[in-house]
Amino acid sequence: YHVREFEQAVSEKFKVAHCQAVSSGTSATKVALKAVGVKPGDEVITQAFNFIATIEAILDCGATPIVANVDKSLNMDPLELKNLVTTKTSAIVPVHMLGVSAEMDPIMKFASESGIPVVEDNCESVGAKYGDKFLGTIGQAGVFSFDHGKIITAGEGGMVLTNDEKTFRYATEYHDHGHENNPDFPRGLDTCSIPGFNYRMTEMQGAVGKVQLSKLDKMLEANRERYVELVDSMGEEFDFRSIPEKSKTIHDCLIFFEQDEGQRKRYINLLGSEGFGTKNLPDAINWHCAAFWSHALHSDQVEHVQLTKNLLCTAIAIPIWKRKSVEDYKQLGRKLLDIRKS
Ligand SMILES: *Cc1c(COP(=O)(O)O)cnc(C)c1O
Repeated sequence: YHVREFEQAVSEKFKVAHCQAVSSGTSATKVALKAVGVKPGDEVITQAFNFIATIEAILDCGATPIVANVDKSLNMDPLELKNLVTTKTSAIVPVHMLGVSAEMDPIMKFASESGIPVVEDNCESVGAKYGDKFLGTIGQAGVFSFDHGKIITAGEGGMVLTNDEKTFRYATEYHDHGHENNPDFPRGLDTCSIPGFNYRMTEMQGAVGKVQLSKLDKMLEANRERYVELVDSMGEEFDFRSIPEKSKTIHDCLIFFEQDEGQRKRYINLLGSEGFGTKNLPDAINWHCAAFWSHALHSDQVEHVQLTKNLLCTAIAIPIWKRKSVEDYKQLGRKLLDIRKS
């Protein structure tokens, strides 16, 4: 019942009809892709600034990942979609990276005109919105991750969110060996019509997830205070990541671009010596940029996303830590500004 209550709480909090808890964000993505109808031999479009998990979920469905470049918002460039769609495209997966939403209006418009379902990978931006809608509730399905590095955590865990009854039914059956939970039979004699797998969430994860969710707003507010102080003290001269007008971010990190390599090193060294470090950019860029994934992608895909690589190589992501105070962020902003002026 912990998992049931966690699903219920997520439905209420994010205003979505159905939630299916699963074992991880990666399995949530795979379950959601299967549920919207992705079949072996299909193509699924996602983006080049991402985490490898999205690509793995597509491959595990037997489909081919197609990667769009990102724009200065560091999310899917909606203008690329029309060039990447083929007759084999069976899903589009925009990924809301590091707290900021993708530009969902043009993506949803293009997808609905083309009759292609959208699965939002919202593993990194739980609680953020686009307009008045929570991310993960705009496409036909959305997915959350609760691994140890995410906004809220259950150690490991994931969730599939959907307003579509059929998508939900498939996700429920597929994640649990095809069980239909037929009310006319005990579980041992339950009916089934599709082969599934075991991607179930445990009761222990469900119990932790409920408590974490109850703390979400408080945690996001703590992030916001630190982020606002940092931005204020850095002033207006930095070349910040652009944020879509309708995006309500969760202030998970602050990203800016610096073209000059020497200057970039000075910023990164300061972040290191002050105990902030960076968040994925640049410290884990290999795991977040498709240009490094020739082990998983066709070579033409790797070639196509050099544009994204060039952009990401100039980006620095400052993590927002609760263990650092609002005052720490104010001091940090001033020191970064000193470097900029020097
Ligand atoms: C973390 C993450 C995932 C995978 O989540 P896990 O729960 O670790 O399996 C998928 N996509 C993105 C964008 C992520 O950041």
